[in-house]
Amino acid sequence: MLRTHTCGELRIQDVNKRVALTGWVQRLRDKGSLLWIDLRDRYGITQLFLEEGKSDPAMLQSARQLGREYVVRVTGTVAERLSKNDKIPTGAIEIKLESIEVLNKSKTPPFTIEDNTDGGDDLRMKYRYLDLRRSPVREGLQLRHKMAQQTRAYLDSLNFIEVETPVLIKSTPEGARDFVVPSRIHHGEFYALPQSPQTFKQLLMVSGFDRYYQIVKCFRDEDLRADRQPEFTQIDCEMAFITQEDILATFEGLVRHLFKTVKGIDMPSVPHMTYADAMKYYGSDKPDTRFEMKFCELTDIVKGKGFQAFDQASMAVGFCARGCATYTRKQLDELTEFVKRPQIGAKGMVYLRYEENGTLKSSVDKFYPPDELRKWVTACNAQPGDLILVLSGETDKTRKALGELRLYVASQLGLRDKNTFSALWVIDFPLLEWNEETSRYHAMHHPFTSPKREDLQLLDTAPGEIRANAYDMVINGTEVGGGSIRIHDRPTQQLMFNHLGFTEEEAKKQFGFLMEAFEFGAPPHGGIAFGFDRLCSLFGGADSIRDFIAFPKNNAGRDTMIDTPAAISQEQLNELGLDIQPEK
Ligand code: ASP
Repeated sequence: MLRTHTCGELRIQDVNKRVALTGWVQRLRDKGSLLWIDLRDRYGITQLFLEEGKSDPAMLQSARQLGREYVVRVTGTVAERLSKNDKIPTGAIEIKLESIEVLNKSKTPPFTIEDNTDGGDDLRMKYRYLDLRRSPVREGLQLRHKMAQQTRAYLDSLNFIEVETPVLIKSTPEGARDFVVPSRIHHGEFYALPQSPQTFKQLLMVSGFDRYYQIVKCFRDEDLRADRQPEFTQIDCEMAFITQEDILATFEGLVRHLFKTVKGIDMPSVPHMTYADAMKYYGSDKPDTRFEMKFCELTDIVKGKGFQAFDQASMAVGFCARGCATYTRKQLDELTEFVKRPQIGAKGMVYLRYEENGTLKSSVDKFYPPDELRKWVTACNAQPGDLILVLSGETDKTRKALGELRLYVASQLGLRDKNTFSALWVIDFPLLEWNEETSRYHAMHHPFTSPKREDLQLLDTAPGEIRANAYDMVINGTEVGGGSIRIHDRPTQQLMFNHLGFTEEEAKKQFGFLMEAFEFGAPPHGGIAFGFDRLCSLFGGADSIRDFIAFPKNNAGRDTMIDTPAAISQEQLNELGLDIQPEK
């Protein structure tokens, strides 16, 4: 080894040791007769020290020529620092240098390699290998490593085995478009990259593997959205001979194990909430439960008093913001503006202030005298000092809009602290979801999800009301994982495909292999997949998943460092039987 220690290792006990260190020059401070260098590697920063009159003059001179990010090997003796830095673990010592060897020079980096860099997003992405030298980004990847290790340890302890499934496959529907790979040998034919290993993990259950997992790359060609990556990683799992309760218990165990081992947090057991309740009380299928603010339905109380907006609405629903009766007119106007944004889509907002002194003051006093308003207070269980915010209109849209308002107000009130964690299972999702664009029902989770047996009779009359054996894990308002108990017999799977608009022929062509497998002794099975990048960013207290991925794509789906996607040569196109002209 070129070094005896790392740059994060030496402490006061090491004083007088002769050491050799290697690393990158982070900073040089030249005070004339005294010179300090901060030397950095993956483990930390160690201060190097030279002194005019004491250090070798030739070495002093070469030290003065060091640039930022030069790679050096130094030798010297550990000494106690006069002014200590208690912000870094090596802050009590410095190295009195005896030699400096430049292992490689560096151009001046395009941004500072510091925790708070001056580099913008684009520049950092283009020089990602430099960005990865910065502590916050490196720590993100270290956290990811630890999460992966602990995931494997937990699942291994429960007899799960990790099996790799292929990357060049045929389409698996998870609701997005496939990335496709043209075949050179079979012109006009294509592989698809997996949106998930769904069908393979089910086949592994038919094979008798019983408990499978894989930390696996998945690919989805979805529309660009901030913080979405075309390739991402899942902790993908499947179990046979289980009930839904077994799956929920096993993977609640995984999440609690991760919180314990990675963050030192003892997570309470994870409550279950039906999808119907999540929508009713939070206006979202991924409610943020770090705080209460449950919805209270006011429809029956407010109708018939002459206030048009409420009279015409199929739903009037509100929530109570604790201690917010002091909100000013300006603050309330701002909330109204918020709900009227096209993305939220409400027409307006009604408020009721329940002042500390008991006075009731609403934006619709004209229609609702105090004794009417008092009914709202009771319905919402409001206390003096609270503020009730109410939206109205079509049921689903109104609930969703109020859900957004709930999050917005909670953020304003500082109730969405990144270091507080609240997890829940949302269960009993609808099996099918109406799609306006295609005018037909789509599988809400995926077509392999089993319906609740008692709901199957609704298939022809009210398909939208059929509940599935499907569940999501939600932490702090983010869906971190989802799965289902699967169909494991051919007739039911065929029935599902029919209802999803596949002809028998199409279903056979695309999924014949799975349906055939179901005829060879398929055990009952089910599973789940966690979004690993998202889980890491949640544990890391970050908004973006990017810093938990070594080499991510930007928001336009590009890797600007290697410059891809990119055109390929005409020769390659010909070979692949794709006769389009490459773009210049
Ligand atoms: N394959 C599903 C997904 O990627 C997860 C599952 O059902 O296990 O969302």
